[in-house]
Amino acid sequence: MNGEKKTLSIEWLSGCSGCEVALLDLHDTLLHVLGNEVRLVRLPILMDTRDYPQADIGMITGSIRSRHDIKAAQAMRKVCKTIIAFGTCPVYGGPHSGGFANSSKDLLDCAFRDNSSTHTDTIPDQAEGLLDRTLPLDAKITVDVYMPGCPPHPGHILDGLQFLLHGREQKIAQHPVCFNCDRNMVKSDQDTIRKPLSGVPNATDCFLSQGYLCFGSATLDRCMAPCPKSGVPCFSCGGPSEAVVLDPNKDVRTRVANQMSHLTRIPYETIIKEIEEQAKTHYAYAMASPVFRHKPTFLYRKWTEEKPRKAEPMVYRKWSEKRCL
Ligand code: SF4
Ligand code: SF4
Ligand code: SF4
Repeated sequence: MNGEKKTLSIEWLSGCSGCEVALLDLHDTLLHVLGNEVRLVRLPILMDTRDYPQADIGMITGSIRSRHDIKAAQAMRKVCKTIIAFGTCPVYGGPHSGGFANSSKDLLDCAFRDNSSTHTDTIPDQAEGLLDRTLPLDAKITVDVYMPGCPPHPGHILDGLQFLLHGREQKIAQHPVCFNCDRNMVKSDQDTIRKPLSGVPNATDCFLSQGYLCFGSATLDRCMAPCPKSGVPCFSCGGPSEAVVLDPNKDVRTRVANQMSHLTRIPYETIIKEIEEQAKTHYAYAMASPVFRHKPTFLYRKWTEEKPRKAEPMVYRKWSEKRCL
């Protein structure tokens, strides 16, 4: 009988749908969990449902980028007992948070009016409701549970679902990506920073030891470190590590520069300068969140000092009050 089952409703806001795919990556396990314990009442990627039915658990992917997103998030909040921010997008803003450093007019000019392949004043309807900035979900509604990751690893999703369904003790630790990376942090004589595509990094030493920037030590591990295991440095898509979030004076670039300057002969200031040059890439995933913007070390003010904007009403909780899976 369905009467005993918990109901699950899913809505996507502005995102890439990678989080829905990660959910489906649970394969048979998902069928087992959903089939026996959960009744799915809404999932736009599989079901043609426009309504917002009552549900025990509401899972929201994507961040708030448009007026439509605000309405959809508020509709979910009204009918769902528990709201989960699923993925880096709703937790921190996600990759399109990078738009935070520009106004929506700048972005539309770049994409349409001043774009050499379009040169048009006709803006598509979908872009009409664009907000002046990307917002994480809890800027507009109260969030009960946070599940960062871009997307979260299926194992973490399963742990999170088991916790929500049964209150089963979560096994998820708050480690940085380095914790699951097999590379060795060794001292080296490397004295220059190497660009991502220059040379071939060896497969055993930490990228930092070899002169490549890697943000694993400043990033929360919700992915099991697939990039450094595959020969690609971490670019921080999972959002900041707990150490970075909790220490107001610790920042992505100070954390990475500290480690790299200890492992190599590259001066700390040189590393800071290099990271600042690429900062809109590495900060993008969490740029919309006050976790970074309120830090005294953050570059946001520098990027936006000539673009004052009206303040948005926010309902953020302190990090220590958040339930983060
Ligand atoms: S968190 Fe990452 S995978 Fe999920 S919707 Fe956002 S960009 Fe896509
Ligand atoms: S900094 Fe990067 S390469 Fe080094 S241990 Fe951490 S994740 Fe691995
Ligand atoms: S970029 Fe970093 S946080 Fe993102 S999936 Fe790769 S290792 Fe994980």
